[in-house]
Amino acid sequence: MLTYTYIEHGHFGFVEKPAPRLLDPHDAIVRVTLGSICTSDLHIKHGSVPRAVPGVTVGHEMVGIVESVGSGVTKVRPGDRVAVNVETFCGECYFCRHGYVNNCTDKDGGWALGCRIDGGQAEMVRVPHADQGLSIIPDEVSDEQALFVGDILATGFWAARISEISSDDTVLIIGAGPTGICTLLCVMLKRPRRIIVCEKSEERRRFVTRHYPGVLVTEPDECLAFVAAHSDHGGADVVLEVAGGEDTFAMAWQAARPNAVVTVVAMYDKPQILPLPEMYGKNLTFKTGGVDGCDCDEILSLIADGRIDTTPLITHRFTLDRIDEAYRIFENHLDGVIKIAISGKSD
Ligand SMILES: [Zn+2]
Ligand SMILES: [Zn+2]
Repeated sequence: MLTYTYIEHGHFGFVEKPAPRLLDPHDAIVRVTLGSICTSDLHIKHGSVPRAVPGVTVGHEMVGIVESVGSGVTKVRPGDRVAVNVETFCGECYFCRHGYVNNCTDKDGGWALGCRIDGGQAEMVRVPHADQGLSIIPDEVSDEQALFVGDILATGFWAARISEISSDDTVLIIGAGPTGICTLLCVMLKRPRRIIVCEKSEERRRFVTRHYPGVLVTEPDECLAFVAAHSDHGGADVVLEVAGGEDTFAMAWQAARPNAVVTVVAMYDKPQILPLPEMYGKNLTFKTGGVDGCDCDEILSLIADGRIDTTPLITHRFTLDRIDEAYRIFENHLDGVIKIAISGKSD
């Protein structure tokens, strides 16, 4: 079958591989009907994910149809349409039982698909611990509607869930890339008093204003003054940092009011500095991530109820045999791209 594979530092390419087989009673084989490209794929390409293994098929955002299941799988059957979770987790260890599935102690636990084991930029994928890693897509939800459930939408949902948002709050979200917008959609479900999005790209600020007219929008140079002017206690009650830059990390705690919650959703290329003497007395609570993606069934039912819609994020569509071109557009932020849907069929 056709796969898109991490060949070596800086290079992904097409590789023909045999179709995956069941290796464990808890495995399922899924035929990928729709996948996507994530910024984390680019992190692998550029060597900032040391645990990624050259030769591995990349891709960890996908939906598909169950082809076969091992004898220990009870939740899904061949023919089921499913969303695949970016996290692999056993459901039984201490961390899984407490909902911290990102820290699953199983050998495949955490981000394995498309990183340490073959992923979904391929015609088929083997999903370990399929009872945990697959969610059945309701009939009324399309593949495109479900495409981001297992990764960036799970991340936004988790970030909103852990951020202790109340109806009196002013919430600042830094970054309106794909994960930032998914975070915004999930914060909106909490109905805080105000939501402010800070984003450097004018194109993406326009996207937020057009699709979510109730949301206030600012840019990095004006962010601190804007938040101070549009919050009740001199700063944001909750900050979610989804941009992942040195400047945005500093902005996150600077824009927060004393005793705020600052949730760091972003992944950074290098260490960041907390200048504790300057922050003394601000009494902030920091939460840092690694998505615990265990809410996918709940997210799918919110989509079915019309309460979350990520389809406006899909700006481009390609078939798997043209994924090289899709990467070029995604990586270079060309043509107003936000997310690209990759379908399994060729032209
Ligand atoms: Zn991802
Ligand atoms: Zn576990």
